[in-house]
Amino acid sequence: MASYPQLKMLINGEWIADGAEGSMPVINPANEEILGQMPKASTEQLDAALAAADAGFAKWSATPAIERYKVLRRATDLIRERAETIARVVTAEMGKPMSQSKPEVMGAADVIDFQAEEAKRAGGRLVPSRSANILSQQVRHVPVGPSILLTPWNFPVNLPCRKLGGALAAGCSVILKPAEDTPASAQLLVEAFVDAGVPDGVINLVYGDPGPVSEHLIASDVTRKVSFTGSTAVGKHLGALAAQGMKRFTPELGGHAPVIVSENANFESAVAACATVKFRNAGQVCVSPTRFLVARSIYDKFVAEFADRASKVKVGDAGADETVEMGPLAHGRRIPAMEYMVEDLGGNRGEVLTGGKAIGGRGFFFEPTVVAAPAADSRLMNEEPFGPIAGIVPFDELEEAVATANSLRYGLAAYAFTGSQDESYYLGSALRAGMVAINHLLVASPETPFGGIGDSGFGSEGGVEGYLGYTDTKFVTVAAS
Ligand code: NAD
Repeated sequence: MASYPQLKMLINGEWIADGAEGSMPVINPANEEILGQMPKASTEQLDAALAAADAGFAKWSATPAIERYKVLRRATDLIRERAETIARVVTAEMGKPMSQSKPEVMGAADVIDFQAEEAKRAGGRLVPSRSANILSQQVRHVPVGPSILLTPWNFPVNLPCRKLGGALAAGCSVILKPAEDTPASAQLLVEAFVDAGVPDGVINLVYGDPGPVSEHLIASDVTRKVSFTGSTAVGKHLGALAAQGMKRFTPELGGHAPVIVSENANFESAVAACATVKFRNAGQVCVSPTRFLVARSIYDKFVAEFADRASKVKVGDAGADETVEMGPLAHGRRIPAMEYMVEDLGGNRGEVLTGGKAIGGRGFFFEPTVVAAPAADSRLMNEEPFGPIAGIVPFDELEEAVATANSLRYGLAAYAFTGSQDESYYLGSALRAGMVAINHLLVASPETPFGGIGDSGFGSEGGVEGYLGYTDTKFVTVAAS
C-alpha cells in the first residue's frame, strides 16, 4: 500500500520509530503482503509511557472541562477531514470494505463528540442534608486517573475512540495499546488528537506483544483503570491482574448473539437484515447475529432465502475492488478457527447449505457459510464463532426459543423479529443480554450504552455511562464553621 505510514509509538509527545524490543511485520490479510514493521516497546519504554501518563494526568485533569471539550472537537474535525486516508489504512490492515471502514471512522468522530459534550454536562449533584448545620452535600464525578486502553483489530478506529472519548473527556490520561494487526489505524487517530492540541503525555501510544505489555502496564502503581475489548479468556486474565492492584476494570468481551424470528415477523425485512448484517465485517463483530432461532412454520423458507443471499455475497480484496461486499478474515489464525466450527458438524450434526471452506489462493478468505439445524451441542451453537458463519434452528414455542437464547454464559446482544407488541415486550424483558434490539440489528450508537453481562463482561462504553466509566464518585460535605 503506497501510503501506509511509518509506524511510531508516541511517548510523552515524542514519536518513536525504534522499538527497543525489535519489531514485527503488519500483514495485509487480503494479499498477505507486508505493510510495515511495528516497533515493539521495551520495559523501559513502557515505564517512560507510564511516567508521561502520570504527569499528563496532573495537567489534563486540571484543565477546565470546556477546554478539554474544545480540543476534542478540533480532533474530530481533523478525523473527519482525514477519514478517507484513515479508512484506506483500516481496509489495508484488516480487510473490511471501504463502504464499512469510512463510516466506522465518521462514526468514531461522533462518539468522541458525544463524550466531549458530556464533559460540559457531567456536573454531579447536590443532595439535601438532614441537618441545618450541613451547608452542602456534593456528589462529584472526578477523573479516575491514568488509564490503559487495550483494543482489538475488528474496529481498529471505533473501539479506541469509544475508550479515548470517555477517558479524555473525563480528564484522564491514557496509554493506548492497539492490536498488533492494526497499529496504523490507531496511530492516524492519535495523530489527529496530537494535532488538535492534546498536551504531551495525555495520550501515549505503545505497541508490542500483548501479554507482556498489558501485564507490565496493569501492574504499575500509576495505572488506575484498565479497559479491554477482546476475548473472554483474555478478559478474565486481565481482570484478575487488575483486581490484584484494586484497579477499575471495564471488559467488553465476546458474544454469541441469538436472533429469534417469530412467525408473525415481517419476513422479508427480517431475512434481509439478518443475511446482510451477519456477513458485515466478515462476521468479526462481538454483537454479530449468530444463532438464528426461527419459528418452524417459516423455517424452511427462511433457511433457503438466507442461504441464497449468503451465496451471492461478493467476497474479495476490498482494497483493490470497491464492489466487494466481504473482505478477508483479519489474520491467518481465523481460518482454522472457522474450520474448527465446520469440522464439528460432520455426521449429521448440521447441514452446510452454502460455504464451509477457506477460499484458496492468497489472503485469508473464508466463504460466507450457512448451516441448517446445527446440533444443540455443536461448537457453532455454543462457542463464539467470530466469523462469517450462521447456524439456523427451528423452534415451536417462543418460550423454548428464549430458553435456548439465554442458555449460554455470554450476554452481549440479543435480537428478535416479531409483528406482535406483546411479544416485543416479552422478548425485550426475557432475553438475557446487555443489549436487546427488536425488529432491527443495531445496538451501537454514540448516545447509548454498549456492554454485556455474564461472560461478555460488565460496564458500558458509549452514552453517559461511557463517560462515567472513567470517573470515581466523590462525596464532599461542608458544615458551618
Ligand atoms: P486473540 O485472543 O489472539 O486476540 C484478540 C485481541 O486480544 C487482540 O487485539 C490482542 O492484541 C489481544 N490480546 C491477546 N492476548 C492478550 C493479552 N494477554 N493481554 C492483552 N491483550 C491481549 O484472538 P484473535 O484470534 O485475534 O481474535 C478472536 C477472538 O478474540 C474472538 O473469539 C473474540 O472473542 C475476540 N475478539 C473480540 C472482540 C470484541 O469486539 N469483543 C474483538 C476482537 C477479538
